[in-house]
Amino acid sequence: RPAVEFHDVRFAYRRGKQAEKTQVLNGVSFSVPARGLTAVVGPSGAGKTTMFQLIERFYSVDRGSVRLSGHDIEALPLDTVRGLVGYVQQDSAAMRGTIRENLTYANPHAGDDAVREAVAMAGLTSVIAHLPRGLDTELGDQGSGLSGGQRQRLCIARTLLQQPAVMLLDEATSNLDSDSERDFRDVVRRISRRCAVIAIAHRISTVIDADKIVVMEGGRVRATGVHHDLMERD
Ligand code: ADP
Ligand code: ADP
Repeated sequence: RPAVEFHDVRFAYRRGKQAEKTQVLNGVSFSVPARGLTAVVGPSGAGKTTMFQLIERFYSVDRGSVRLSGHDIEALPLDTVRGLVGYVQQDSAAMRGTIRENLTYANPHAGDDAVREAVAMAGLTSVIAHLPRGLDTELGDQGSGLSGGQRQRLCIARTLLQQPAVMLLDEATSNLDSDSERDFRDVVRRISRRCAVIAIAHRISTVIDADKIVVMEGGRVRATGVHHDLMERD
């Protein structure tokens, strides 16, 4: 079963009662396999973020349907949707408390083994082992010992602890040096063997690594394929 399916999805934001609606998705259909990396690309305003928000059922579609692991999203309890879909919040500036607290914030009952595994998947085992206070290192202040890229991967580890069927990753806010870029790429690859990863891709490496690419423009899917196919098209 695909992790996510969009069937002829239409969606418009409503701005107040009297204002007209702005059509944002105009009949979007695509599917995301249960494993692997799907990159979503397209210009600003194409509807990529809106598409993510529909996968979280932050909004409901006007027409068509969204399916999660084969189930109509509207028929699932919201808690189930929240469990299946892991949105990677990358607001590292707002990180407070210790590394462990950050990891288990949304999953307070996660055991040590689960934490260790998520840390390993995010490529942070040796980084954290080298901190004098390990998982109990405070993140609040600058100079807590984690770089920007490492904090970003900590956000990914936190989402992993939720064991989502699909992980949503918006690369918009992250600018990484080339070492961090390589680490990030490795982590995304590793995770995509475990669950579906959908990335709004701003990095060329993510697009190249993708098992599937969805090209969006003006609220429509312009093309889907693998990198090779799409390059030949141009
Ligand atoms: P992308 O992520 O591809 O840049 P978005 O999904 O953010 O695209 O936006 C698609 C369109 O929807 C844009 O025209 C944007 O201005 C509009 N839009 C996004 N969010 C809202 C909102 N909360 N209310 C009204 N219009 C919105
Ligand atoms: P902008 O693109 O104008 O910076 P966004 O609408 O993308 O703003 O995001 C505003 C805030 O909402 C950000 O802090 C972001 O982390 C959060 N956010 C955006 N998309 C989602 C989403 N799909 N689920 C949860 N939070 C989101």
